[in-house]
Amino acid sequence: MNAIEFDRLRARLAHPGSLVTDPKRFEPYTHDATEFRRPPAAVLLAEDKADVIETVRFCREASIPITPRGTGTGLSGGCVPSEGALVVSTEPMDSLKIRAAERLAVCGPGVITKTLQDEAARYGLTYPPDPASYAECTLAGNVAEGAGGLRCKRFGVTKDYILGLEAVTADGLLLKTGCLNDYRGFSIGDLLVASEGTLAIVTSIVVRLTDLPGVGHTILAAFDDPGHAARTVAAITGSGMIPTVLEYVDGETVELANRYEKTEGLDRAEAVILVETSDRDPDVQAAEVDRICREHSCSYLRTASDVRDAEKLWQIRRNVSKAITDAAGARVSEDVAVPNSGFPALVEFVAAMNRAEPFKICCFGHAGDGNLHVNLLAEEAGEEALERLEPAVERLMEKTLELGGTLSGEHGIGLAKRKYLAREFDAATLGAMLAIKETLDPGDLFNPEKLFDRTP
Ligand SMILES: Cc1cc2nc3c(=O)[nH]c(=O)nc-3n(C[C@H](O)[C@H](O)[C@H](O)COP(=O)(O)OP(=O)(O)OC[C@H]3O[C@@H](n4cnc5c(N)ncnc54)[C@H](O)[C@@H]3O)c2cc1C
Repeated sequence: MNAIEFDRLRARLAHPGSLVTDPKRFEPYTHDATEFRRPPAAVLLAEDKADVIETVRFCREASIPITPRGTGTGLSGGCVPSEGALVVSTEPMDSLKIRAAERLAVCGPGVITKTLQDEAARYGLTYPPDPASYAECTLAGNVAEGAGGLRCKRFGVTKDYILGLEAVTADGLLLKTGCLNDYRGFSIGDLLVASEGTLAIVTSIVVRLTDLPGVGHTILAAFDDPGHAARTVAAITGSGMIPTVLEYVDGETVELANRYEKTEGLDRAEAVILVETSDRDPDVQAAEVDRICREHSCSYLRTASDVRDAEKLWQIRRNVSKAITDAAGARVSEDVAVPNSGFPALVEFVAAMNRAEPFKICCFGHAGDGNLHVNLLAEEAGEEALERLEPAVERLMEKTLELGGTLSGEHGIGLAKRKYLAREFDAATLGAMLAIKETLDPGDLFNPEKLFDRTP
């Protein structure tokens, strides 16, 4: 984009000051939480949907690609600017209206997930999806990535709570889905969930709220062998019990988290699981978890005495991302997921890879849902260091698919995993996805390069 184009776009905006064209202000918009980096052509800090519509129409006429953006906490490169792209950040569009009697909330795309939870709690309600980044990420980012979270095993993920969406199409028209229009017809809203900013720019989100759940018991169990911990997870899920949270953290990660902040008298473990039982039958579930952990030779077992004590145990899990980021020059962070019965095989595969590789691999994840976040850490920063990790990433992807799993449980494909997409989906399914993209966005305006690898 050049100065003339900037002026032409500004002239069409109700809030001309929201167009950022000074490269000195670009840095926050060059990346997400991955190692991918690219400067934008310009950034629109969108204040309302009218400006989003005008910008889309302008970019379509001028053939300038658009990369939608929330707060950039993504872990697959989704909001990293496509080549030559104008970034449309919907972060400033953060209006929020709780309609308690209807048990729903009408949210601007930039509402922070935790803000929605806090506001809903004032009415005795909650929005259950809770990505670990919930204090920073936006609802539109959650919708676009199909975000999951810690409580996903019991309460489901983002897609389970979307009642309606409003979005700007590549034609610069306003599309309304679900309760914002009618419940019949094609389920277009479902297409937008997890579409990674490639089909439309979301400008309003109506979500379902539920009763605020009570609090269950928090239990931490440590193991001398990752396989024992993973089999404990499989035994808990296999028993039919549905705890509110069931997380797995491997020994490498526990060590890094301890180094970051020591919150529990646990010096060394090969793996840890953290459970919050359901609030419905907490004592029965706690006794069952206790029994299963002992049966699988846990070396340490502690049930929190109260909510404050539980916070101490959860702090280990909360610290893991920061601890891992601090420990590495650069990292590749994968979020594979497998059926519950395959979880032990996946964990043992990653543990074996960690022993064999010259670099550190640490993992944690929403084990109750078969999610494992596998982090491959390079000591130095830079492209070359990252490239050395790639063969291990490829083996991880192959193993995951062999176990009937998926390349991404919740973080999306973005730039990070697009080259593996064709290994997960057969040609017919991938062809249908591409046909939808080409129908809704024939000029490839929204987030080109993401999700699909179209290099010949
Ligand atoms: C420490 C940490 C923990 C995390 N834990 C979890 C977790 O537990 N579960 C989980 O699922 N994820 C997790 N994530 C990943 C990330 O927080 C989620 O993917 C989140 O949904 C991204 O939201 P965002 O606002 O940051 O979006 P961004 O990173 O800004 O963008 C993400 C994608 O959304 C698209 N997008 C953004 N806004 C719009 C819009 N208005 N319209 C259309 N497309 C749009 C972008 O183009 C991009 O493709 C974690 C990340 C970090 C750093």
